[in-house]
Amino acid sequence: MGIAKILIVDDRPENLLTLESLLDEPDIELVRATSGVEALGLTLDHDFALVLLDVQMPGMDGYEVAELMRGNKKTKHIPIIFITAAFRAEAQVFKGYESGAVDYLFKPLDEKVFQSKVGVFIELFRHKDALRKKTRELDQKLVELEELQQQLEETNEQLRLLSTTDGLTGLYNKREFDTFFDMEWRRGLRGRAPISLLLLDIDFFKAYNDTHGHAAGDDCLKMVAFAISDAARRHTDKVARVGGEEFAVLLPETEPEGARHVAERLRRAVSDLNVPHGASPTAACVTISIGIATMTPDLQHVQRDLFETADAGLYQAKETGRNSWCVRTSVPIVA
Ligand SMILES: [Mg+2]
Repeated sequence: MGIAKILIVDDRPENLLTLESLLDEPDIELVRATSGVEALGLTLDHDFALVLLDVQMPGMDGYEVAELMRGNKKTKHIPIIFITAAFRAEAQVFKGYESGAVDYLFKPLDEKVFQSKVGVFIELFRHKDALRKKTRELDQKLVELEELQQQLEETNEQLRLLSTTDGLTGLYNKREFDTFFDMEWRRGLRGRAPISLLLLDIDFFKAYNDTHGHAAGDDCLKMVAFAISDAARRHTDKVARVGGEEFAVLLPETEPEGARHVAERLRRAVSDLNVPHGASPTAACVTISIGIATMTPDLQHVQRDLFETADAGLYQAKETGRNSWCVRTSVPIVA
């Protein structure tokens, strides 16, 4: 419980002494003023719980002080108790309330009444103070909550990346590829639009690993991944690592002609890397073979048919010398 400050204002020092003796409490701090002008200045410098204001003062009287306090944003909510020696007339009391007084006491002060009224205002001030503190704490909590929310979103994003991408190459993983494949297949089914699929495989990769070591093998996978994702330029094209040295590129709304162009670009991008391959019987550097297939999704086929057709193309590209691509158009019969 903090100290409550009370401003006592009276032009007569002996009256101030009386007030001081009545308010001699450890949790009350008294600030004195002997004129209206001095009182106004002090209300701007302190946070008062209450002002005890003498009505009759030379110069600026209590009513004027109260009016000026009500006109100022910082002081308009400070409670005021007018203290007056005379004029119990109703009209006078009314004048005090108009200027914003919240209470009125008459001299000589009744000790019990006086102390209980002051006590009520101090209590109110403490409530208000506690509310202000709580509001500040809540504001702080809100800031913390927003920070936590932000962290949660970042963590979720990291988790999402971890679950959808391949750790080594940063490409989409097989699971995410299947999700895209499903989505695009259904889109193609609705829009009667062709989908092309490229399946890629690094030529003689096992021999590469055996000759250059697994660390070099990982580097090779990363370089190839970078080259092919760089060469598949449309943002709708999805590049994924679907096996050890196998990659897939899904090309929505792409006719065979377009798919061949992309395949050739990918093939050249990898051979242009010029990564020496010490164990390839067909080339001095790392190359890829690509199988191409295009289908317009219909209800007689499923995604696997397109995948298997592209895989047959890949097999054929391997058979016919590697570092090449091969288009398969016929759909294999589904057993
Ligand atoms: Mg006076």
